[in-house]
Amino acid sequence: MIYSLIIKRNEMSRVLVNGYWDHGKKKEIRSYAIYGGLIPPYTMNIGSDKYIMPGWYKLDNTETLPNIEDIAFYPYKPSIRPLPEESIGKVYKVLSSKGDKEYEVNTNASGSLECSCVGYGYRRKCRHIDQITSTL
Ligand SMILES: [Zn+2]
Repeated sequence: MIYSLIIKRNEMSRVLVNGYWDHGKKKEIRSYAIYGGLIPPYTMNIGSDKYIMPGWYKLDNTETLPNIEDIAFYPYKPSIRPLPEESIGKVYKVLSSKGDKEYEVNTNASGSLECSCVGYGYRRKCRHIDQITSTL
């Protein structure tokens, strides 16, 4: 369960751009970094547009395509926080968003969570589990 939450976060890559004005070269020097995700940086041309991927950063026409090895890469590192020991084996009751139903979120010995709601049955994740995870 916790694993699928992490997959969702893995999909997010951000391109961070730093720039400074080089007085000698009389131009702005930019550096690029990819934060998050697990896909190493690459560049892509679509028509006359140039992109730094993943993250879909579109270079403007003053920017030159950097060398791949000049793009810093800070991949996403899963930070699985182990459940506190006292929460293992517990059952948490969570109200549905409408407040008319009560679901049971179970923690099991392996540290994963299971919910009694229909959504969890289909997707193996749900907001009730998120809610409990954020409070543990
Ligand atoms: Zn649920």
